[in-house]
Amino acid sequence: MTLRPILIHPDPRLKAKTPPVTEITDDLRKLADDMLQTMYEAPGIGLAAPQVASDARMLVMDCVKDEHIPPRPMVLINPEVTFTSERMNTYEEGCLSIPDQYADVERPAEVTVRWLGLDGSEQEEHFTGLWATCVQHEIDHLNGKLFIDYLKPLKRQMITRKMQKLKRERARAL
Ligand SMILES: [Zn+2]
Repeated sequence: MTLRPILIHPDPRLKAKTPPVTEITDDLRKLADDMLQTMYEAPGIGLAAPQVASDARMLVMDCVKDEHIPPRPMVLINPEVTFTSERMNTYEEGCLSIPDQYADVERPAEVTVRWLGLDGSEQEEHFTGLWATCVQHEIDHLNGKLFIDYLKPLKRQMITRKMQKLKRERARAL
């Protein structure tokens, strides 16, 4: 497994909608492994392929935070939301592509998602709590949408300017 560099906002690759995966190849399996390792290392609870400069319609996540519960690495290919609850939930969200910035985002509290597993099998699951927020945040990435797109323009611009500054500083440090 290889750690892959995570793109930092703003980047046009984070704004693009990914096309569906049509074939599960060895490259895709390798990408899934790398993404999981990159996510755990960050550390984060979710990562979408565009964040590592791939246009595969695939995300990984593991929202188990309790050390006493075994990890649950999940790989979702071509995920599709098939149900959203009317009840909404607000979480303070962050993003590995927008480091150290957090803001409240309101989303449906529960969602059902259908996807393809790495073995090509169709799977469906109902998510609640943090899992529901995380899977919606990651599916947004596959559609070129970031959590800051839910914020008021002024707040979004402020965060974007901070990220531009961070990218300049990192470029200088290389
Ligand atoms: Zn994110």
